[in-house]
Amino acid sequence: MRIKGLRLWRVALPLRERWRTGASEETEIESVVVGLQTDTGVGWGETAPHRAPLYSPEWARGVFHLLAEELGPRLLGADLATGEELQECLRPYKGNRFAKAGLDLALWDALARADGQPVWRRIGGRPDPVAVGADLGVVDSERELLAAVERFVEEGFERVKLKVRPGWGAGPVRAVRRAFPELVLHADGNSSFTLRDMRLFRELDELGLAMIEQPLQHDDLLGHARLQQILQTPICLDESINGPERARHALELGACRWVNIKVARVGGLTPALEVHRLCREAGVPMWMGSMLESALGQAPSLAMATLPGMDYPSDLFPSSRFLAAELAEPELALSAPSRMLPPEGPGFGFLPRPGPLLAYGRETVALGEVDAFAAWSPESLQP
Ligand code: MG
Repeated sequence: MRIKGLRLWRVALPLRERWRTGASEETEIESVVVGLQTDTGVGWGETAPHRAPLYSPEWARGVFHLLAEELGPRLLGADLATGEELQECLRPYKGNRFAKAGLDLALWDALARADGQPVWRRIGGRPDPVAVGADLGVVDSERELLAAVERFVEEGFERVKLKVRPGWGAGPVRAVRRAFPELVLHADGNSSFTLRDMRLFRELDELGLAMIEQPLQHDDLLGHARLQQILQTPICLDESINGPERARHALELGACRWVNIKVARVGGLTPALEVHRLCREAGVPMWMGSMLESALGQAPSLAMATLPGMDYPSDLFPSSRFLAAELAEPELALSAPSRMLPPEGPGFGFLPRPGPLLAYGRETVALGEVDAFAAWSPESLQP
């Protein structure tokens, strides 16, 4: 498949309400949408590192310009049959996984669309509905927290994830555990703590949590390995797993007993499948995360969630849960309480809509031959 051109959009999708974690606060989700024009059609990808480097070292404006000025031009004219070939083409560029993911995902989408096949089937996934959980950001009061968790339980969610924030202690998580003794529950530290916070970890360790997610800094594998030796509760790594090499190191060090895979964070579907293979070999179970991005960005995680070894409800959300406006169609929705169905459509199963790209686009650029995007140019979208 020959790469003829690409068009990039940096977009900022508004959230229904402010999203707070231990590390950041967002009112909109910044992402980069990639449209890849090939000699057989168009493939789409979305990568959402967010506005500032608060989740990972990457950020949306940086990703947009790196794609426009370096990675995109390198792919123009290339003849690529697989994600591995694309990753090989980009190998000279160090790190920058979110940027590489935009191209990797668009290629996978184009390849599967050319065959008229859903990506999840192409990678050996099962057609069954996948389990998804409920997430809650940092909220202001214990009353608000308990009311939200009660709503999730009534809606049939089988697990709930809470954020923990420096300075708050284990109190809010303990309150939820007291009110819901049987609930499958876990806490996410979003890399905001250090080993000096041992008192908090010991308190959380008493609460029968399914796991403690990413308590320490994103680059502290040794710290996580040491902490895992002390705690009964399994540690799940999220931010730390930025690609297959880091996953291998974490598994060898015993730094975690669960892995949360986010497709864009590890560099696309190609490296995500490699992380999946390494975890399966090591006997470490996984689940899928997402970045609160649109259906286009969540679709690769939904495809991965259909694979064996995904043994915990994933962070996949209906479009209406966090977003005030969906970029893609169809909207992402639950198929049953706590369940989501992999789409039957070709590729990842979702397409961006021109209107939202214009309304929420902050910048766009075209490289090479982009005839397929004539209808998507800002000029043609003017009302
Ligand atoms: Mg997390």
